[in-house]
Amino acid sequence: MSEPPYLSMVVPIRDEREGSEILFSRLVPALEASSVPSFEILFVDDGSTDQTADLLEELCGADERCRVIRLRRAFGKGDALGAGFDEALGSVIATIDADLQENPEEIDRLLRVYEDGTDLVIGWRNQRRDGLGRRISSALFNTVVRWAGGPPLHDGNCGFKLMRKELARELPLSGGRFRFMHLVAAHWGYRVGEVQVSHRKRQTGHSHFGPLRAIPALLDLVAILALLKGRGRPGFFFLKWGFVLSIPGSGVLAFLAFLRFTEGTIGFRYPLLAFGSLLLLGGIQLLLAGVLVEWLGSRERGRPSYRIDRHRHEMGARERDR
Ligand code: UDP
Ligand code: MG
Repeated sequence: MSEPPYLSMVVPIRDEREGSEILFSRLVPALEASSVPSFEILFVDDGSTDQTADLLEELCGADERCRVIRLRRAFGKGDALGAGFDEALGSVIATIDADLQENPEEIDRLLRVYEDGTDLVIGWRNQRRDGLGRRISSALFNTVVRWAGGPPLHDGNCGFKLMRKELARELPLSGGRFRFMHLVAAHWGYRVGEVQVSHRKRQTGHSHFGPLRAIPALLDLVAILALLKGRGRPGFFFLKWGFVLSIPGSGVLAFLAFLRFTEGTIGFRYPLLAFGSLLLLGGIQLLLAGVLVEWLGSRERGRPSYRIDRHRHEMGARERDR
């Protein structure tokens, strides 16, 4: 390929042999029929053990628009996405799940929103075809993310997305962090939007995430918040709460010490003693955690956490040229 393609479609894929042929036979025509001037498709094989990658390679054949990237083992969906983003040549990155619960033919809907100036466009499965359990956990997830300061989206975790490459390259993705792309992007000042997409039941294979996904997702959210709220200093979050607990804790203990010396006894204030001690000890624990995180993370320390809006810059230059 001489010219880099306009769009890179990244498909994380693990053990989806059964659906691979349909996936391939729909993705290529969908992109050909779309409004993108040129594209590439990156299938990132996340350590499949069912020869998904071999089959995909065979399907890609001589079509140089399609590539298979094989991870050495199963690293998880987030890392598969990350590998695809790093290898992508396009200036626009799209992602879609290999099970085709979303329709690649609807890519133009996302593109339209993107071209209107949204940096990250996420599909909104307004008629979701998943079980009740999934729908409830998803609704809870979206509420919690909004409550944590995320953008006002209905469905932040849809696998069908479109984004600016510079954003894709910087997002935290490992583990379950890929679930919070919208939260992080919005926090960095990128414009995040959504557009309705259709959805259907999984036709082949099976879901890779069980109902217990909510628990690690919650831990990932805490980790992400610590990073974002600490303004790039993850330890800041713990240090702040360490002070919030230890200062009143010290105050309570100082008050009791004062009583002990002036009146000779703290009377029946033992619950207060326990409370003050707990606050102070809890606070000290958090302070220690904060210091450790800052210390271990010192490689990152001081790296500025701003994100330049090159898009607006370019638009501005174009306007001036006119
Ligand atoms: N996937 C992956 N690695 C994993 C889990 C999932 O590459 O560890 C891929 C999977 O093949 C699919 C997409 O990520 O293309 C979404 O997975 P799945 O459909 O199982 O998730 P769900 O729709 O159930 O949330
Ligand atoms: Mg799925």
